[in-house]
Amino acid sequence: MYHHVKNLMYAVNVGEPDVRFGRMLLEQFGGANGELAAAMQYTLQGWSCDDPERRDLLMDIGTEEISHLEVVGALIRMHFKPMKKELEDAEQDPLVAVVGGGGLNLFNSMGNPWTADYLKIAGELDVDLRNNIAAEARAKITYERLMHLTDDRGTKDALQFLMTREITHMKAFSAALESLGKDPFSIGKLPPTPGLVDEYYNDSTGEDPEAGKVGVGKWIEMNGLHVVDSPFSFDAKGSGLTVDGHNGHNGKSSTRPRPTSGAKLKTA
Ligand code: MN
Ligand code: MN
Repeated sequence: MYHHVKNLMYAVNVGEPDVRFGRMLLEQFGGANGELAAAMQYTLQGWSCDDPERRDLLMDIGTEEISHLEVVGALIRMHFKPMKKELEDAEQDPLVAVVGGGGLNLFNSMGNPWTADYLKIAGELDVDLRNNIAAEARAKITYERLMHLTDDRGTKDALQFLMTREITHMKAFSAALESLGKDPFSIGKLPPTPGLVDEYYNDSTGEDPEAGKVGVGKWIEMNGLHVVDSPFSFDAKGSGLTVDGHNGHNGKSSTRPRPTSGAKLKTA
């Protein structure tokens, strides 16, 4: 059940309305990483969740995101005000000015309509919690970038609040994920193929024009991976790529399927 409280979650004041900035704020309203996407993703996951404690968390955060949507909406409404009078401001977003009368609608900053395709819902609790941690990270970085693009004190304060809450959510989703006590690489029920799962394919040849010779970092082995050379090797004389049976660093052939002999390979 939903209930509307007439206060905003964070009081919003805009000193200097800026239509162009309002348009950028639409990313956090009807955009891919915006508040509606977050609210719908968590709420729908919550409605589907059979685990009562994690469902409660998903519903709490999903509900808070609707309150964030309301705060972003209030900011956009204030920034869009000049659009209703001035041609120059209306020109910044004719779709909003002419079709929407300078009001709110579910578009991103480029006028693309909001879509359920933005939602990442896998129907598996641990996978969804990972989706949510990534969504919070994207929301955080979007707020941070927006904060760099405005000098308006009231706008910056509201964005600081919203940005901070996304890290709070990230912490909560991370705690929920850890509380499941699952091996982080155990996803779903079927085990991966032993051996193959630990092969990292070094699929790059040559030198980086700027950085020179850059190899695979030692850190790749942190989770039990080892480096296996690509089945493609580069002929420096310029005849392009060839397929061969390069051995892996461990001396064993990679179990990676090779392209069939008729496969066309792009020459460098
Ligand atoms: Mn939010
Ligand atoms: Mn959030």
